[in-house]
Amino acid sequence: NEPISVVDPDVAAVLDSELHRQQTYLEMIASENFVPRAVMQAMGSVLTNKYAEGYPGRRYYGGCQEVDKVENLAIERAKALFHADYANVQPHSGAQANAAVYHALVEPGDTVMGLALAHGGHLTHGMKINFSGKNYHMVSYGLDPQTYRINMDMVREQALKTHPKMIIAGWSAYPRQLDFQAFRDIADEVGAYLWTDMAHFAGLVAAGLHPNPVEYSDVVSTTIHKTIGGPRSGMLLSRDAARFGKKLDSAVFPGQQGGPLMHIIAGKAVAFKIAMSEEFKDRQRRTLEGAKILASRLLADDVKDAGISLVTGGTDVHLVLVDLRNSALDGQQAEDLLDQVGITVNRNAVPWDPRPAKITSGLRIGTPALATRGFGAQEFEEVADIIATALRDGKSADVEALRARTARLAENFPLYEGLDQTHGS
Ligand code: PLP
Repeated sequence: NEPISVVDPDVAAVLDSELHRQQTYLEMIASENFVPRAVMQAMGSVLTNKYAEGYPGRRYYGGCQEVDKVENLAIERAKALFHADYANVQPHSGAQANAAVYHALVEPGDTVMGLALAHGGHLTHGMKINFSGKNYHMVSYGLDPQTYRINMDMVREQALKTHPKMIIAGWSAYPRQLDFQAFRDIADEVGAYLWTDMAHFAGLVAAGLHPNPVEYSDVVSTTIHKTIGGPRSGMLLSRDAARFGKKLDSAVFPGQQGGPLMHIIAGKAVAFKIAMSEEFKDRQRRTLEGAKILASRLLADDVKDAGISLVTGGTDVHLVLVDLRNSALDGQQAEDLLDQVGITVNRNAVPWDPRPAKITSGLRIGTPALATRGFGAQEFEEVADIIATALRDGKSADVEALRARTARLAENFPLYEGLDQTHGS
């Protein structure tokens, strides 16, 4: 029962230095967040020891009475939070939740239509070497070349032409809300299932700040670790348990997975309880406000004059997509520059990107993690100005001065204060 600092000093050192990195950098990767300590406690608990194949009350192992309670809590809270009739909280990740959707609703070789990866879709929405692209006949829809938005007339045209059995709404890199009613109408017109992958914006939905796709879709999948700020994992929801519940349950287990991760499911239950609070709503409000502040600073003339713009000219979610095609910096250089300044982001292809995926001509910058850290309008103004100044000045940016400004923000908003990951027993 020695602590990890004694049993494995090498791994303990990584835990300590990663904690330090998270505390001293400003985290702006749009898909990341900081879990509350209560969620971390659930994830680091004895529930990791338990095998519980099956579902509450219908397990294939003995001794499941305690874990049944926690899975039921997670299910009931998820249903309440998203006004769903059905929830499956067992998917280990977003990608596995998505694999279960395919498994439940379509057959290998069937036609499925999703947003193109190059225009902001996810790997599991049809990328060539992903299981989705390998096993299904994927036909994508792209963005409108004029507006860089999803154009529902174009989606309809593509659906009428290709007759998909399932249509995917949802994205990994797109700064706008979706028109779920229009997706529903198109799915009904062509006789397709509508599946929404709300992995990115689920936290906004939970807070009532984004239309709820559960009301329009046959099935909704999500991750729990992005805007929701829970444990790294996935989930499935539906408004129609009678029609889809059994199919989805058996697609997750035994279709895709073996034993559920009960410690992670406990973490999901805690995260959903927190997501019902006023504090959570306020955090999602600050997330959106921060993204708007960031967009407005990056649209200012000094940044525009450096050849920098925003995909769709702004945002109505938790992220912006910076278009660097006419800037002196490529995506890799911009990511590296912001890293030197103390801000972590990821380079991201922009639609019709002329550069390869490893370099790209864009940045995806999100506000959820900083909102969790406590940032409000004033701090988002400051971080937006630091980013704008760095990108505008490019290779001649005063990195030291900008680094000092991010360090001050980090100091003023301490993260995991007093957390000792490595010495407790
Ligand atoms: N779906 C969307 C839209 C995503 O953006 C992501 C993650 O980036 C996933 C699914 C996959 O989630 P995970 O990384 O947990 O497999």
